Amino acid sequence: MSILLTARFHTTVAQTRQLPRVGLPEIAFAGRSNAGKSSAINVLCQRRRLAFSSRTPGRTQALNFFAIGPKEEPSAFLVDTPGYGYAAAPQSVRGAWDALAGRYLGRRAELRGVVLTVDSRRLVTELDRKLLGWLAPAVPVLVLLTKSDKLGFAERSAARRAAVAQLEEIRPGADLSVILFSVTARTGLDEARAIIDGWLARARVGQPADDSKTVLVED
Ligand code: GDP
Repeated sequence: MSILLTARFHTTVAQTRQLPRVGLPEIAFAGRSNAGKSSAINVLCQRRRLAFSSRTPGRTQALNFFAIGPKEEPSAFLVDTPGYGYAAAPQSVRGAWDALAGRYLGRRAELRGVVLTVDSRRLVTELDRKLLGWLAPAVPVLVLLTKSDKLGFAERSAARRAAVAQLEEIRPGADLSVILFSVTARTGLDEARAIIDGWLARARVGQPADDSKTVLVED
């Protein structure tokens, strides 16, 4: 059984100083708003409303932490980062994204992997590229090509090939996986779970990270 099936809400972090200091491994989910990130989290964890769509009115630009592992003693966190690139978002919201999610993704020592949701019809956009550029080179990335049910058979493999080429150019030599994904057709679920489970199995569970590295520097 995938460890993702144990996911439950843990906490919301609105400022970097509220980040957990327990040193558990973290896997972040990121993506353009409307790319299908919350649908992917919910289906991978088999929970109806664990993550909320970035279109949900009133959602703040916060990081949502979900605990996974045994109930009494979580072994890791999944971290839902706010969707970016929402056309109607005011400049202040975009600045807030950079200050919290951007800094989290770029500097968090506990990060053991990033799952990036990319709409299979749009492929990797400029903002996705920017995000990938922020990540430390050692962080493995799993790209879910979402809504692949909307593509025909030939289009799907073409989309995957094109995305792999884009990503190899953006992060040459990095640990990258690209899978066709669909919530409605239930494509790629087992494959995605196996990759994330693998990251967590490799993470040094239970070893508190060095405090000086775990906490983000407040500028
Ligand atoms: P988020 O903003 O990235 O969290 O995106 P959501 O998960 O809220 O999804 C945005 C829209 O895409 C919603 O209307 C979803 O129902 C739809 N959607 C998400 N995943 C899929 C999928 O695999 N197939 C199809 N056809 N629609 C999807």
